[in-house]
Amino acid sequence: MKNRDVASDRTDRVLVLNSGSSSIKYQLLEPVSGVVDASGIVERIGEGNGAIEQRADGEITRRAERVADHTTGLRLVFDTLSAAGRDVLSEGVFAVGHRVVHGGETFYRPTLIDDGVLTAISELSSLAPLHNPANVAGIESVRELLPSVPQVAVFDTAFFHGLPAAAKTYAIDGEIAAAHGIRRYGFHGTSHEYVCGQAAELLGRDPAQLNQIIFHLGNGASASAVQGGRPVDTSMGLTPLEGLVMGSRPGDLDPGIVSHLMRSAHLDIDQVDTLLNRDSGIKGLSGVNDFRELQRLMANGDSAALLAYDVYIHRLRHYLGAYLVELGAVDAITFTAGVGENTPRVRADAVAGLERFGIAVDPVANAARARAARRISPPDAPVAVLVVPTNEELAIARAARRVVAESGCASAR
Ligand code: ADP
Repeated sequence: MKNRDVASDRTDRVLVLNSGSSSIKYQLLEPVSGVVDASGIVERIGEGNGAIEQRADGEITRRAERVADHTTGLRLVFDTLSAAGRDVLSEGVFAVGHRVVHGGETFYRPTLIDDGVLTAISELSSLAPLHNPANVAGIESVRELLPSVPQVAVFDTAFFHGLPAAAKTYAIDGEIAAAHGIRRYGFHGTSHEYVCGQAAELLGRDPAQLNQIIFHLGNGASASAVQGGRPVDTSMGLTPLEGLVMGSRPGDLDPGIVSHLMRSAHLDIDQVDTLLNRDSGIKGLSGVNDFRELQRLMANGDSAALLAYDVYIHRLRHYLGAYLVELGAVDAITFTAGVGENTPRVRADAVAGLERFGIAVDPVANAARARAARRISPPDAPVAVLVVPTNEELAIARAARRVVAESGCASAR
């Protein structure tokens, strides 16, 4: 009886997949409680030296083997889950939720995947050539291995779909922009939406009554201004290159730099793409893209690392100022993701000297090591400064569960 209970619980599980061009990140979880059965990553798909690393029940499993393509990678995920007592292939899952990077103008809410949706995601590849094809490969692999399980696409752009025209429009020829889908789409939307809701919960307020500024500071980084639960601006644009300084991306640049590099340094368009996506940002300036390594270099007085940090903070404050003015009044400023959650110095420097705007952090609260969502501003400060851990997987799992339940097409298993 107990076993049957466990097995039936298992079919409540949602498998969340984040498929990259050479990796699959995954998490198997129960979406209501948020209990995670297992999580892991398959890396170097398509290269000779593939590997999987999984965490389940506090145990870490690592295995190295060649992974030819995404379907082979997903098989490896299922084998590894099975070895940890989670046999997805025979027990099934309630749904598979995919993080899909670009939803373009077409998708603005989590969407049950059918042939038409899959084709549309594939057609949006011109807007996200590094990401959407990998998302399509992940969806097709699940179709092959778990044909009866419903799949849901959760789009990184969706939260920002309704940005005001003035915020989403680039000042270029309107016909060219329309012909090529050029507008500001914004990314990390699942995280910004989740954090916006969690911040309101922490403050015991209705999100519809709050003006919020959110900084998602991970390897990629973005800011958003959210008025009454609806985003009015965000720092990423047509692609995830724009805005804040990131681990290996520059954020805002004079677009003239691109043509200058092509003419003067004779870089072709792919070399420019690589320079901007992989070799810029903190890495371009300091040689390292991981923030912990940057801090180690800074502690040794490395001048390139110190400059990289200053440029990073300068850009954060630039967006903070812009969004303060756009919102007029702000109730909460929230930091999230790897750097935002774990680096008190960044949070303190981002808001330093803004007491006259009602913005400050309490040094003790800011320095405290904690994992939970928390307030780090003085209790009487007019603006709440918060740290809220993001959880994109949980948000995707919950969205997938809701969409499948509403559609009435739960898995046959
Ligand atoms: P992504 O999901 O975009 O890959 P994460 O949200 O995991 O990124 O953030 C990764 C970044 O967070 C890295 O620069 C890493 O150094 C930084 N980071 C993670 N944990 C810590 C920590 N404890 N202290 C400082 N930085 C951290």
